[in-house]
Amino acid sequence: MAQLSPLLKQATPVVVDHGEGVYLYDVDGKRHLDFTAGIGVTSTGHCHPDVVRAAQEQIGKLIHGQYTTVMHKPLLELTERLGGVLPSGLDSLFYANSGSEAVEAALRLSRQATGRPNVIVFQGGFHGRTVAAASMTTSGTRFSAGIGPLMAGVHVAPFPYAYHYGWDEETATKFALRELDYLFATVSAPNETAAFFVEPVLGEGGYVPANTAFLAGLRERADAHGILLVLDEVQTGFGRTGRFWGHDHFGVHPDVVLIAKGLASGFPLSGIAASESLMAKAWPGSQGGTYGGNAVSCAAAIATLEVIQRDGLVENAAERGRQLLDGARLIADKTAAIGDVRGLGLLVGSEFTTADGEPDTATAQKAQKAAADHGLLLLTCGAFMNVVRMVPPLVVDAAQVDDALRIWGEVVSTVTG
Ligand code: PMP
Repeated sequence: MAQLSPLLKQATPVVVDHGEGVYLYDVDGKRHLDFTAGIGVTSTGHCHPDVVRAAQEQIGKLIHGQYTTVMHKPLLELTERLGGVLPSGLDSLFYANSGSEAVEAALRLSRQATGRPNVIVFQGGFHGRTVAAASMTTSGTRFSAGIGPLMAGVHVAPFPYAYHYGWDEETATKFALRELDYLFATVSAPNETAAFFVEPVLGEGGYVPANTAFLAGLRERADAHGILLVLDEVQTGFGRTGRFWGHDHFGVHPDVVLIAKGLASGFPLSGIAASESLMAKAWPGSQGGTYGGNAVSCAAAIATLEVIQRDGLVENAAERGRQLLDGARLIADKTAAIGDVRGLGLLVGSEFTTADGEPDTATAQKAQKAAADHGLLLLTCGAFMNVVRMVPPLVVDAAQVDDALRIWGEVVSTVTG
């Protein structure tokens, strides 16, 4: 009898039968409040009726068109619709299946377009698990250990993770930008640097929002040296942060934006968007793949976008996010075990630390497991896996947030009491 490989690490023992909205129902009929959303994917909730209908209708018409052989209607319609939400000027798109593939594609595009070998990433960033994307990932050695040699040409600068450094945000930002300039002078000259790859909020790295001064500093250096600013919005895009794009909070304009996860409510689809003039610097046929832009995924993405806009899910993410952040902070105020609670929109992280401020992985893991036992599914993240994150579907309502906070409060008081 075959079994699932033990190399997969399972966050919970739950075996799901079906999902509806913010709930998952397991094979024993137990209901779980899903504050993981399939790692930030099921933006419209599990099996939103409009998404289900769009996918079902598309399945009966065309499943696979292969977009470098023929075009199909959902692909063209999605592209046109994304034009209405993408940052201005980023109106040239192509598709892949996963976030990692989008990162790889942007890496190829950046190198082709600039003729430069290096990229700079920011410590704590997660960009994927394929070897190139893992080479650019610094959110934990668990993603890159043992698979080397990693790709050359990746250099790491600090991210303004103020809590980690024990500084205020301004000091952390000044430090990060100064170290970036030092990296330019000592390791990767600007004219050897093709791109910055950065997340507007560190996701796997611990739910740490960037800030306006930091991203403006990157933009300034990108403009001064002809370096591309690639924003990895795989986790932060599509309303997750309470604005349509994570970078909308910071007023920065990217050269390339990467989308996946929330884009298609759970169907595999990712996209790479840039200006046409930038795309034209690579050459036809240099990107593509068998499955990218799958017809059913595109139909699901069109329905997802429609639901997000029609039902005000971006605004809901902002409001429910505030409720969740405030509630999680009140819970943290009652214990010394949670040193920081932060986030943007429906990305909320609680960082567990010991009395002397060291990462407290054991308590965070205990809390995550206890929450699962009480019907609240959560994940951990951060370099030390000591941040418990809440990332519910964007359709979550006020009562469901209260319910999650009630369970979280009980769990925290039990595991830290
Ligand atoms: N970039 C970011 C910011 C992500 O959060 C993730 C997934 N957690 C990826 C890239 C990789 O996406 P995938 O797992 O679909 O390859």
